[in-house]
Amino acid sequence: MSRRIIPVADLSAVPVISGPAQAPSGALHDTLARPLRDLRISVTDRCNFRCVYCMPRAVFDKDYAFLPHSALLSFEEIERLARLFVAHGVEKIRLTGGEPLLRKNLEFLIERLARLSTPAGRPLDLTLTTNGSLLARKAQSLKDAGLSRVTVSLDALDDTLFRRMNDADFAAADVLEGIAAAQAVGLAPVKVNMVVKRGTNDSEILPMARHFKGSGAVLRFIEYMDVGSSNGWNMTEVLPSADVVARIAEHFPLVPLEAHSAAETAQRWGYADGSGEIGVISSVTRAFCGSCTRARLSTEGKLYLCLFASSGHDLRALLRAGASDVEIATAVAEIWQSRGDRYSQLRGSSAAEPHAQEGRRVEMSYIGG
Ligand code: SAM
Ligand code: SF4
Ligand code: SF4
Repeated sequence: MSRRIIPVADLSAVPVISGPAQAPSGALHDTLARPLRDLRISVTDRCNFRCVYCMPRAVFDKDYAFLPHSALLSFEEIERLARLFVAHGVEKIRLTGGEPLLRKNLEFLIERLARLSTPAGRPLDLTLTTNGSLLARKAQSLKDAGLSRVTVSLDALDDTLFRRMNDADFAAADVLEGIAAAQAVGLAPVKVNMVVKRGTNDSEILPMARHFKGSGAVLRFIEYMDVGSSNGWNMTEVLPSADVVARIAEHFPLVPLEAHSAAETAQRWGYADGSGEIGVISSVTRAFCGSCTRARLSTEGKLYLCLFASSGHDLRALLRAGASDVEIATAVAEIWQSRGDRYSQLRGSSAAEPHAQEGRRVEMSYIGG
């Protein structure tokens, strides 16, 4: 691989470039002209839930080989990589997992990341996705550390159903308490993610909409995805977002809202009475690969270019081999500029098959949602 050396101090000043033939520096575009803007960082592959669609207990059992601590990127390593990604155009960082709040002293990492700013001098949009089980007790320290916002996952209000879906006997009330705590300390607007599985929790669409309407939290319905290799995904269990919107609109009239940005994954709908909004994330029925600006850094430092990838690029190896900032930034540039992933657009067609042939798709709990 040919490498051109770029003084890292120049990374913030160079003009936008595009195309793999260009020298790798500054803002980056992949082979489909998509810029690198968002970085999701998985801080642990462990979780205290066993959601049926993500970490089914039959696979993630007591014998499952989670990563040893030595394999995890340290906070110093994460911060160093994050700084180089920000120099390359990343404006938003989301911490995820597994369950990110299980990572010890996560606030220390947030403090470090919150000090980063974009080449234009703007603070990063620094967010976190959590199952909410530990949020009530951590919301204040997360806010104090510099976190901007949180997204909380909640698949049902009905406690029996929620316990069945998380398969770890956590109560919906604990998550609701976490959401309230996040709102109280100003980690707002809180987004609430509900994965909809037809025949499992679609009966909760209306109760959830009713509960969060007017609360200030933005409820988002996510189509159940064929991510990973263990959840036994079947198209018959996907409820298209259009049906979700129709079900809600029967009771509460909705009006379409403009996207906040071109790269926004959710389509926004506002309640006609002005009492807030909902979002739908239609990864299966309305692919948004054309505007996908997201890279994912796994718990052990592999860079994935798509949620449905089966392999990643080992940045930890570079870090631990003593690579310089310039070498790592150059490698990141080359990787992004070669990116052509668009799995959801190709889903079901033969062109999506190369992904399957490369090996088992990486699990969402490892790569981060
Ligand atoms: N543990 C945290 C949580 O649950 O919020 C963060 C990690 S989790 C992998 C991130 C998001 O991915 C969650 O909102 C979860 O509901 C979603 N997710 C996991 N598996 C999914 C699937 N098969 N289809 C759609 N969304 C999924
Ligand atoms: Fe854990 Fe989140 Fe996956 Fe549920 S969705 S098992 S909470 S990582
Ligand atoms: Fe992005 Fe891959 Fe999802 Fe398409 S399938 S939106 S490229 S992560």
